[in-house]
Amino acid sequence: MTTLFISDLHLEDDRPEIGRQFVSFLEGEARAAEALYILGDLFEYWVGDDDPNPHYALMKKAMRELADTGVPVFFMHGNRDFMIGEQFATETGAVLLPDPEPVELYGTKVLLSHGDALCTDDTHYQQMRQMTRDPEWQAMMRAKPLEERIAIAEQARQQSQEYNAAVDEEIMDVNGEAVVDTIREHDVEVLLHGHTHRPGVHEIDLEDRIAKRIVLGDWYEHGSVVRWDGNGPRLEVMPR
Ligand code: MN
Repeated sequence: MTTLFISDLHLEDDRPEIGRQFVSFLEGEARAAEALYILGDLFEYWVGDDDPNPHYALMKKAMRELADTGVPVFFMHGNRDFMIGEQFATETGAVLLPDPEPVELYGTKVLLSHGDALCTDDTHYQQMRQMTRDPEWQAMMRAKPLEERIAIAEQARQQSQEYNAAVDEEIMDVNGEAVVDTIREHDVEVLLHGHTHRPGVHEIDLEDRIAKRIVLGDWYEHGSVVRWDGNGPRLEVMPR
């Protein structure tokens, strides 16, 4: 049996081809999986579980159908869909995970994360992250009318694009020390995350041992998946 990991699909109605690939993935190989882990940024943005967006409704339905077949589905928040809540979990059958989350896979100790918390060089982003993850801030947002929340999310997305274009690329990658500290703190052999859209497998030298950092890719041009079974993890591209 294989455990599947995906992240950074950035689903939205403007990119229906990603949604179609996600649905066929859920109806296809995911049905035979031991479990499916979605490590954040499944959606381009999420303004609240009460958003009636029909594209999102289709995606939720496909997730529900997978969960109903008995495949455990886990969801971790990304920096775009951190407002996903318990109603979404109930609707889709997905179990919400904290970030980071340690798991054991086929005898290997693994730490799962979205990855944005590791980008400590980007202090501006980390300040924003702290603010938006505050339960009081989220309650204040949820109290706003849906239309206003959507307008705020659109504005935030545009600002983030402008910011990302203006900032040095290196600042937006993970910080090496943060990676080492996180792996040591949780005493794992593998750190598996997404967020940076820089898929790859990296060896991390901890001096006393070598750990691994596996980075999932985004789904803009094609799917990206980690398939993990008794032979270990494989980071692979899923052509459209
Ligand atoms: Mn992200």
